[in-house]
Amino acid sequence: MKQSFYDLNYSDLEAIISQNNLNHSAAAVLFNWHYKKKEHTQCQDKIAKCSLAFIEDSFDFSLPEIDVVHESKNDRTVKFLFKLKDNHKVETVLIPFNNKYSICLSSQVGCAMNCSFCFTGEQGLKRNLTTSEIVGQFLQAWRWLASNRPGEERILNIVFMGQGEPLHNFDAVKKACEIFLSQHGTSIGVQKIAISTAGYIPGLKRWSQEIPGVNLALSLHSPFAEKRNELIPINKKYPLEEVLTYIDKIPLNKKQFITYEYILINDFNDYLDDAKELGAMLAGKSAYINLIPFNSFPGSRYERPGLDKIEKFKDVLDTYKIPTLIRMAKGDDVLAACGQLNSKN
Ligand code: SAH
Repeated sequence: MKQSFYDLNYSDLEAIISQNNLNHSAAAVLFNWHYKKKEHTQCQDKIAKCSLAFIEDSFDFSLPEIDVVHESKNDRTVKFLFKLKDNHKVETVLIPFNNKYSICLSSQVGCAMNCSFCFTGEQGLKRNLTTSEIVGQFLQAWRWLASNRPGEERILNIVFMGQGEPLHNFDAVKKACEIFLSQHGTSIGVQKIAISTAGYIPGLKRWSQEIPGVNLALSLHSPFAEKRNELIPINKKYPLEEVLTYIDKIPLNKKQFITYEYILINDFNDYLDDAKELGAMLAGKSAYINLIPFNSFPGSRYERPGLDKIEKFKDVLDTYKIPTLIRMAKGDDVLAACGQLNSKN
């Protein structure tokens, strides 16, 4: 069976090229063609004929198919539903900012974390995505922009904040990052990639060695164990205090910080005591807080607090001198906002 080209990082490809005695420049030529130029056709750049035949016979260049595209009417958010080879589906979101985009990638079909406030959790975990299915979301979204919004095919940030717990699929996510970072390919700066986690310690332990420099976001949501257990069940296995000790060990450069995401849920974790405890917990760390007013979805059990409560919560955090942003939803008219991704149909 052919191997997916998009499952290979640059050194994997180089190894295959040299094992098969092909011209060693072929790896750079192929990465340039498929990732820098983002061509989907057979490579037309300078590769010897015999190498082309080998490449054709060895690699599969197919990508996840775009099944449905939802374009928000309120902003320029685009949500893609991708169909995978085994008919599973995942979603990817392009989030606009100043005519550029961030892409929010999925890492798993469904998710095993079962957080009580998240639509994806209701699907359960079906399987991990492969590296090619992760990289494929990016390439297909880029191509969609090139044909549908020409001149706007600028995806400057990559966030692993779609479906799935990225650290629960560490190997595939890591390899996808290596491909994004490769100077022969998309050459995205490490500071432009962020991975969000519910606090999956086995992945945090590997972070510094294996994905150094990548930005980390933690879904914190409550400083209190009882509440966090209810929101994020793996908090019982990997408690927040322990998660924070691992995060504190991750080296940051001078300009870098850890993002702490905090969903605000009406009359649950939006009290001033919650804000004070959160502030005290993060004061003095290189921290940045994203307050995310809860986004509802069909059947959701929580509500979003009113704006004045949200602002008061932020005011408390300001007294702890922690930079805090209230992140209003984008694309929620097409269920593309945080926590609204669900692709089981
Ligand atoms: N599993 C990872 C990656 C998902 S990121 C994680 O938990 O971090 C998606 C972000 O959206 C997380 O911060 C998540 O907590 C948040 N989220 C999930 N459901 C939400 C909802 N209904 N409203 C607002 N944010 C939500």
